[in-house]
Amino acid sequence: MSYEHILVAVDLTEECDPVIKRARELSVSSQAKLSLVHIVEPMAMAFGGDVPMDLSQLQQQQFDQAKERLDRLIAKYPELSKDHCHLTYGQPRQEIHHLAKEQQCDLIVVGSHGRHGLALLLGSTANDVLHGAPCDVLAVHLIKRPS
Ligand code: AMP
Repeated sequence: MSYEHILVAVDLTEECDPVIKRARELSVSSQAKLSLVHIVEPMAMAFGGDVPMDLSQLQQQQFDQAKERLDRLIAKYPELSKDHCHLTYGQPRQEIHHLAKEQQCDLIVVGSHGRHGLALLLGSTANDVLHGAPCDVLAVHLIKRPS
């Protein structure tokens, strides 16, 4: 199966390497365009939307830090063109679906931890992205490193 435009979603941790590598392999074998997205979740969202303090400064720091990490990734993977790397605020599932539709992507690549038990109940981004996705979704199995 050949793809034309692959969107890889990354959390910008060290775990995103195998996810990008897989997406890159597929883009080479399909001669597909490769785009990348990271979503910065608004802090108020993480705290349930009702926080009695001004989070704007912290939020700006969070965004700047994400931008720095993204720039490092772009330097590490030359096939990731800056024009095709997106950094946006919002809820990961919603923003990934929106971008995939807008950019007419035919494959979304995410990492998956293969959660069990309670962690499974709490859900995962891969699971979330799969539901209602506008195109195929590939979940790259991530091996948990011993802590
Ligand atoms: P998680 O379920 O949060 O451990 O994340 C699993 C995968 O979802 C990651 O490897 C990424 O592919 C994707 N993901 C998680 N958080 C984000 C984010 N903020 N922006 C983009 N992709 C994300």
